[in-house]
Amino acid sequence: MTAQRITRQGLLDWLNGVAAKATLIAPVRVEGIYLFRPIVKIEDIALDYSQSTVPPKEWLFPRSDTLFTIERLDRAYELKPPAAAGPRVLFGIRPCDARALAILDRLFLAEPADNLYEERRQNTVLVGLACARQQLPECFCTSLGGGPQEAANVDVLLAGAGEAYTVTVATEKGQQLLSGATLRDGGEMPPAPSLSNQVPTAGMAERLRLAFNSSYWQRLADRCLGCKMCTYLCPTCHCFDIRDCDVGGHAERVRCWDGCQSALFTKLAGGHNPRASKAARLRQFYAHKYLYFPERFGVTQCVGCGRCAHFCPVNIDIRETLRDLQTLEVCPHGSGETARRREPVGAAFGDSRASA
Ligand code: SF4
Ligand code: SF4
Repeated sequence: MTAQRITRQGLLDWLNGVAAKATLIAPVRVEGIYLFRPIVKIEDIALDYSQSTVPPKEWLFPRSDTLFTIERLDRAYELKPPAAAGPRVLFGIRPCDARALAILDRLFLAEPADNLYEERRQNTVLVGLACARQQLPECFCTSLGGGPQEAANVDVLLAGAGEAYTVTVATEKGQQLLSGATLRDGGEMPPAPSLSNQVPTAGMAERLRLAFNSSYWQRLADRCLGCKMCTYLCPTCHCFDIRDCDVGGHAERVRCWDGCQSALFTKLAGGHNPRASKAARLRQFYAHKYLYFPERFGVTQCVGCGRCAHFCPVNIDIRETLRDLQTLEVCPHGSGETARRREPVGAAFGDSRASA
């Protein structure tokens, strides 16, 4: 990787050139929050944004995605794929969100790859924007091996603020994108901000196994509203539902975001629900990220962005849960009964054992 410099004006000029050749998607302020949106005017880009409320995953895995269209012909049906995605540049993504996309790659690009995700991924260049300060009070990326200046999951990383940025070229794709930019030699990374949160995440898979039947989940569920905010805003959550919609004369098969915190998400056609209680669904949120996904794909499915804690309307905070799981006294024989308090355990929520 090589580092160079670019002035703010040089950056804006370069982005103007990028927008002429590809769809440029970048953070903008919309009704008081930051969202990633296609850019019409370069000056709309919020270069000093804090953190987007909705993560940029929505540009690779949209919240509502037409998989194909079904046209009725005389004596047959025709299935039409959606139009191919053109070239895109996703500008200004934070290192934690870029890491989240690398995690989603493991799932969506595993054989057989999801063709829509794969096509968008191949047509997208990622330009990261390092964090000059802690973005949310709850973020804890360094506890999971990430960092505010991580360049590993983007094609180009910009760092700095104000009048000049340091440019780190991380891939060939990034090098090509920068071909029209006015760069100067000798860029130096600004000092990385120190983050206030260190959360103990080591050994979490084993702690979750031990706590599987703990009454802790019921106590947490007593506060949860089941609103699914945590799953929709998480940059690595990827649950979906598939529906066929009648769209004025033809049908569309649509994939929509869904979330494990909804009672209907796991309800089967015959009426049985393997995760019928809020306690089991909350446990699934943590176990999927820190136990099942790592078992299957080799990485933790959380990047410590802090959104789930920041936006939960009842202050359920993943940092607190991870700390609690480290100290919860559970029976080592697998019942999960708390040794100290001898509280009633998992039977209270009457769920069968969850799977990934
Ligand atoms: S955001 Fe909070 S209240 Fe809503 S489902 Fe998640 S944990 Fe429950
Ligand atoms: S679980 Fe919470 S902290 Fe972890 S990536 Fe998802 S929203 Fe961010």
